[in-house]
Amino acid sequence: MEQRLIHKVREIYRTDEFIPLHAPRFDGAERAYVNDTLDSTFVSSVGAYVDRFEQQIIKATGAGAAVATVNGTAALHTALHLAGVQAGDLVLTQALTFVATCNALKHMGAEPVLLDVSPVSLGLCPEATEAWLCEQAELDGEGQCRHRASKAPIRAILPMHSFGHPVQLTELSAVAKRWNLALVEDAAEALGSLYRGRPAGSIGLTAALSFNGNKVITTGGGGMVLCQSSTLGARAKHLTTTAKLPHAFEYLHDEAGFNYRMPNLNAALGCGQMEQLDRLLHSKRQVAEQYRQFFAGSDYRFIDEPDYAHSNFWLNGVICPDRAARDQLLEQTNAAGVMTRPVWQLMHRLPMYQSAQRGPLPNAEWAEARVVNLPSSALVQATRTGGEHD
Ligand SMILES: *Cc1c(COP(=O)(O)O)cnc(C)c1O
Repeated sequence: MEQRLIHKVREIYRTDEFIPLHAPRFDGAERAYVNDTLDSTFVSSVGAYVDRFEQQIIKATGAGAAVATVNGTAALHTALHLAGVQAGDLVLTQALTFVATCNALKHMGAEPVLLDVSPVSLGLCPEATEAWLCEQAELDGEGQCRHRASKAPIRAILPMHSFGHPVQLTELSAVAKRWNLALVEDAAEALGSLYRGRPAGSIGLTAALSFNGNKVITTGGGGMVLCQSSTLGARAKHLTTTAKLPHAFEYLHDEAGFNYRMPNLNAALGCGQMEQLDRLLHSKRQVAEQYRQFFAGSDYRFIDEPDYAHSNFWLNGVICPDRAARDQLLEQTNAAGVMTRPVWQLMHRLPMYQSAQRGPLPNAEWAEARVVNLPSSALVQATRTGGEHD
């Protein structure tokens, strides 16, 4: 299997050199837009590219509002803050995630509750979430959901769309509604993915995207807060730009805001990238199709999009038969210059989340021992500029 896979990846990417897990591509107007910010000197917190980038994201996601931030973690912090999460709260999330999901909570003084993932999506399992709530939670006289033992408020459900594959949002929304919880999507990996035809990030009250260098599109570093309502969007803009009140010259700030705004320089790169989004998604789907065919009929299972979803196939992955097979795959591919990675360690194995409350995690543990991520960059294509058509 290992040697055949190495051969297959080299065939897909047509190179004998090192093949990374995910590399960005700048085939459109990215250079021209970035240079434009340099020529204009508007590289920092003022400039037209930020507005333009936010409008492109609204168009792509159907969100009610979008506010650009310095990175995805900052976007997630803001999204949780807008959903009412405060110090002392509990927030239900998945044990199998990238550490930033839990870090954003920890930075706010909130605590993650680590729950199992669904084998369908590898994201938060609605049944496990409902089961934990039935066992551990109650609604108080005011309708506030509380942890029965500690009386701590449980404020939100925070699912993450693993590798870009959408979680079961209808079921999770229903759980959130029953227990009077906000639904916040960690959609950092899911730009361009659809859940039953609706873009990931547009269904929760708020959501966060990331444009880190390894994501579907990149701004170098960057993120975006998505809000269902324009009222929340205005709050997000205010909070992430030092909560400054408009005035011709005075420094007026009405709360302790964040300086989370995305510089114009980065937004320019994002504008160029967004013009390439459809092309990138198309190419990533072709790469996924090659892996799907390669693993068909073997005892390695390609991680495919759930049947209710159209995925962006951000990061392809395969489920190995067991941990020994996983280790062998990791060792041989990496030794051959084909980069592969195991999935993240479950959050409760990290020192800062060891004492986090958690439910039973059979699916998360199963995936942790078997999942390997494979090179997933979009393929090299002829250089085209943003405005051109095929
Ligand atoms: C990338 C990522 C983030 C954070 O994004 P940054 O831009 O790196 O801060 C958050 N959550 C998940 C699941 C991610 O994959």
